[in-house]
Amino acid sequence: MNTKEKILLSSPHLSDEGYEMQFVDEAFATGWIVPLGKNVDEFEKELAAKVGAKHAVALSSGTAAIHMALKAAGVGAGDIVFCQSLTFSATANPIIYENAIPVFIDSDLETWNMSPLALEKAFKKYSPKAVIVVHLYGLSADMDRIVELCRKHNAVLIEDAAESLGAKYKDRHTGTIGDYGVFSFNGNKIITTSGGGMLVSDHEERINKVKFWATQARDPARHYQHSELGYNYRMSNVLAGIGRGQLKVLDQRVKKKKEIFEFYRQELGGLDGVTMMPVHDWQEPNYWLSCFTTNGPVKPLEIIEALEKENIEARPIWKPMHLQPLYAKYDFIGERVADRIFETGLCLPSDTKMTVEDMRRVVNIIKSLWRQG
Ligand SMILES: *Cc1c(COP(=O)(O)O)cnc(C)c1O
Repeated sequence: MNTKEKILLSSPHLSDEGYEMQFVDEAFATGWIVPLGKNVDEFEKELAAKVGAKHAVALSSGTAAIHMALKAAGVGAGDIVFCQSLTFSATANPIIYENAIPVFIDSDLETWNMSPLALEKAFKKYSPKAVIVVHLYGLSADMDRIVELCRKHNAVLIEDAAESLGAKYKDRHTGTIGDYGVFSFNGNKIITTSGGGMLVSDHEERINKVKFWATQARDPARHYQHSELGYNYRMSNVLAGIGRGQLKVLDQRVKKKKEIFEFYRQELGGLDGVTMMPVHDWQEPNYWLSCFTTNGPVKPLEIIEALEKENIEARPIWKPMHLQPLYAKYDFIGERVADRIFETGLCLPSDTKMTVEDMRRVVNIIKSLWRQG
């Protein structure tokens, strides 16, 4: 057994002030331990205000939010959906839930996210109903060019901002630039409700429609009548209370995540072959995870294993969807940049509860690997 204190990749971090419990207590005091209720309504309003979206609907997960965004976009059986390949599988799976057809789009090295060049090429070959772009690790995609291409080709733009709550692209919050934005409050995200998600949009009618679908699609009749397929996708009023409390410390969490990244950049950025994840002056990432690529003497897997021996959690970059057995049969448009980021990259522990000593433990292990070559 390893006696050294565990350093985690990214774990839930409750507010010092106990905000979460105050809202949860309120739900208990009123006995409103049900799906929906005041915490849900307020969490939707507070999150929408925070990111600058007009409307929001709280859901049971980020995955449910992507599913509902696709339905809201009118995606159905046989429709083509362009999807960033370099991402977590939950971005793509809802395309299959709807029996639609994913076409995977490459990333570029400038953003690690959807390559506008690959997207343009894809539009020459297909007419998709929707495009799902991801803001990976809290870095924003090149939205101006992606929005322009989607407008030109009449495709609905969905932003998977599951990892990027609090991140900005040119002064606008990620998730509010396309037609729909998706956030996740899973346990490892920058803020959490233990599990949950949110869909935001300026299309009020569509958000209301999602609220209808997500509460079992009950027609307005006294008896239980259904003319559409429903889902049980709403967030519980208890969990929304946790979310309201967490939202109050989002800015603090972003600040700490940035400090962690800056520390790693200073300490590791100069190592032979290391390139830190790309950050530009036109964006403010939330630095959900600190990542880098290396084509130097030490391979990512060796780093991950060396850290693991010292009870420190690190991870490979998401394996692109076009390399997944599940998705191998679908088309991929690009130059395999996503493959290279996957093969050479890794995610360092980025837990906001880390101390400077913890961060030093991490970089000392990595530096010693470089000294051994
Ligand atoms: C976490 C995540 C999701 C899914 O969110 P859940 O709330 O876990 O369902 C979707 N996309 C990306 C990129 C994620 O990181």
